[in-house]
Amino acid sequence: MRFLVKPLNRYIEVLAEGKEGIVTFPTWVPGSYIIRELERFVVEIDGVRIGKNKFYVKNRFRYLVQALSKDQRELISTSNYLFINPPALFPFQTFDEEYCVKIDTNWQIHTTLRRVGDWFCAENYHEFVDSPIQASPNLKVIDIDENHKISTIDNIEDLFIKSLAKCIDEISKIFPNDIKEKYIFFFRRSDLNFGGIEHENSSAIVTTWDNKELIRLFVHEYFHRFNVKKIRPKDLKINYETESYTELLWFAEGITEYIATIIPLRAKVANINETLNYIANTLAWLTFPGIRRMSLAESSYTTWIKYYRKDNNFANIGISYYQLGLIVGLIMDLEMIKNGNSIYDLFKELYKIKEYTYEDIREISEKLGVSNLDELVYSRNPPIFNRLSEYFEIRFIDKGSPYYGLMLEGKKVIFVEDNSPADMAGIIQGDEIVAVDGAIKGLEYKDSIKLLINREGRLIELVVTLGKNPGHNLIIRGKGEIFKRWSGYDEGEGKSELKII
Ligand SMILES: [Zn+2]
Repeated sequence: MRFLVKPLNRYIEVLAEGKEGIVTFPTWVPGSYIIRELERFVVEIDGVRIGKNKFYVKNRFRYLVQALSKDQRELISTSNYLFINPPALFPFQTFDEEYCVKIDTNWQIHTTLRRVGDWFCAENYHEFVDSPIQASPNLKVIDIDENHKISTIDNIEDLFIKSLAKCIDEISKIFPNDIKEKYIFFFRRSDLNFGGIEHENSSAIVTTWDNKELIRLFVHEYFHRFNVKKIRPKDLKINYETESYTELLWFAEGITEYIATIIPLRAKVANINETLNYIANTLAWLTFPGIRRMSLAESSYTTWIKYYRKDNNFANIGISYYQLGLIVGLIMDLEMIKNGNSIYDLFKELYKIKEYTYEDIREISEKLGVSNLDELVYSRNPPIFNRLSEYFEIRFIDKGSPYYGLMLEGKKVIFVEDNSPADMAGIIQGDEIVAVDGAIKGLEYKDSIKLLINREGRLIELVVTLGKNPGHNLIIRGKGEIFKRWSGYDEGEGKSELKII
């Protein structure tokens, strides 16, 4: 199929050419585990609707799409900027045919699609939709090294570019060959934080202006070039119209997050205490009831309906495979290092397999020194603190301290821990604290306090009795031979800063 794209303000007009017959608009975007219903952007089409996301069309047809999403998984078109994640704009007929696009603009255009005259082409639909397009009169290219670039309309500090180059260099120790292929980071600052999405030869990152933690985000997306794109869970199939289930997102995402945590450390662009602070905060989020209710494998299976649809109660009902996956990656790496290997060796072995199963991961990990991976992946409430205690001293600094069990954003309750004093008193997320003991003041620790709450516009009074913190915030301290081999430092300390009252 061929598409001539005309960017308009807030809309994109497309003249398409294919065979007379059915076209299908994707239902989801690979790399993001939620049904997005991309047909919802179509506002006009020359064709007969024959289903939710299908039309019968002539061999040439025109359609108009709304392009107002700042999310790099979707589309935006303004008077000076265009970003297309192709599954959000282009329907398919058959997968194994050439797909080409031409953008009707004299702006700078960046894409990893193959250039053919004025057109950009891919061998098949899969490659076509894995290749975003960014255009703007203000677009610039920042070279990271010979093969890696950033395409952006924003400024990026030189120091960051140098740090990223060092991280890519560190990753080349694991995958020495593929690193020489061309790669683009599409990057934009925004008023919302959308994070990143991976593609084989690029990634697209949209984050807020105040986000200073860019390096981990860039390294995470870059590592997906390997873990998910070149090597991937065998059961993670792409079907553009339905959900696809795997129990291995903890490995595809969580272990990638672990790699993104240690690569800056190994590349000496993050120091040990920063790294341990991040690990401490990750661990702190794993001290809530959710870890007793959902295993790592379950969190992967259910991501479409739980993690991707989470609300503020999520820490009570489940775990993030990013967070627990990161910690399991840490445990695996330490146990491998203890045996003279490392998680780099695991990836080198998986690279030979390309499409991996859990059995592959377990078998190779066992050979490299990891014992009982099953209990970390399949049990609810896995013994992570116990397994880490061989390498780190971990101390819960708030255990036994005065506690109500809630988190606040201003006066608004954003989280209530199950079975905490706040829960027992009847507080729920979304409640606004109007008065404390009859006065307009902040919360303080007392044996019992009377809260005047605004819930859905109604005032209610609730009495909360002080309890004891079960232990959420912690200090993680590392030293010793294995710690040194893992971090390159003699010792280090990290501290979590979860704001739970
Ligand atoms: Zn990811």
